[in-house]
Amino acid sequence: MGIRKIVTRGDDVLRKKSRPVENFNKKLWNLLDDMKDTMYSADGVGLAAVQVGILRRVVVIDVGEGYMELVNPEIISMEGEQFEAEGCLSCPGESAVTKRPFTVRVKAQDRNGNWHIYKGSGLKARCFCHEIDHLDGFLFTDRAASDEEKLKAFEDKKKLEDND
Ligand SMILES: [Zn+2]
Repeated sequence: MGIRKIVTRGDDVLRKKSRPVENFNKKLWNLLDDMKDTMYSADGVGLAAVQVGILRRVVVIDVGEGYMELVNPEIISMEGEQFEAEGCLSCPGESAVTKRPFTVRVKAQDRNGNWHIYKGSGLKARCFCHEIDHLDGFLFTDRAASDEEKLKAFEDKKKLEDND
């Protein structure tokens, strides 16, 4: 167990595609344990292996609903949309409003290779999308909403509030 160094924007590795995990062995478990420690020590809600310089499809998440490990995760369905401010442990000090689905379903393996299906809405959906994006070399700023989208989201929200 240990805390690893988090790679920051400007390092090319963040733009690379991560490879699937094939061996569910001690090496993977060590990586997961270190990623967990690293995420909590950095006060993050999610971390992808590439952020500690390992190009494997491994993600850890905790949005306040419990700790999760996702190995070889894939989004299998998306519904709705949301526009919220997002940041990233690899981009300290940066934030942007992103366009994300409101609800996603994800299939992923656990540390023993068993498949599970998870559903998340709101922050959890954003986090699933954000971390899985890292595995394909995308950063949250690639999903930044346009000014038109932000304006429309703001007006839709206002309409809802006015109707209350
Ligand atoms: Zn990130």
